[in-house]
Amino acid sequence: MKFLQVYAVVDTSYRLLWVGGEWDEFALQNAAQSALANTVLSTSLMAHIAGDDTRLLTSRLIDTVLTTKKPLRLEYRCDSPSMARKFLLTIQPMKDDRALMVHDLRDAWHFSPPLTPWHYDPHARDCKCSYCGHVMFDGSSDWVSCDEIEERHPAFVTYAVCPTCFDYVDGVVNEVEARAAAGTDTDSENPVR
Ligand SMILES: [Zn+2]
Repeated sequence: MKFLQVYAVVDTSYRLLWVGGEWDEFALQNAAQSALANTVLSTSLMAHIAGDDTRLLTSRLIDTVLTTKKPLRLEYRCDSPSMARKFLLTIQPMKDDRALMVHDLRDAWHFSPPLTPWHYDPHARDCKCSYCGHVMFDGSSDWVSCDEIEERHPAFVTYAVCPTCFDYVDGVVNEVEARAAAGTDTDSENPVR
């Protein structure tokens, strides 16, 4: 498994002040020429995130770290059609109301057979969760794991957040806020699911 770590520093308006680690390698692997470091610096992180729910939850996570001055950790999936990839996102408070976001690739495995490649289309009828990658097909209310979906993966998706991931993010935020309210000085990080 190739080691992969990507960093970004954002301010209170989510502007990307700095990106580092293997940012460009990751952007190229994902065919995202428009996301190369030189292009994204000083733009808003939110301009690079698809889906209202996803932008809302990402801003909530960053706001929580900036207001509580406590770090948080969150697991998520960012798959390609050929690889399942499990990441750990750590958001750390920095001085001057900035936050450091570190994305660590923790685990990866091949989909066999590969999934049908998909593209973001805001008008697509099928929906993909930005955090776990599960798919909800048009007309269904069930979210299906990509580990079971194989060639049935839709070619066009909108991005949203499934109820399980909404609850997970809620739990992470609540835990950090409770830790800040309790005045716990140790920056022991919240447990990972
Ligand atoms: Zn999900």
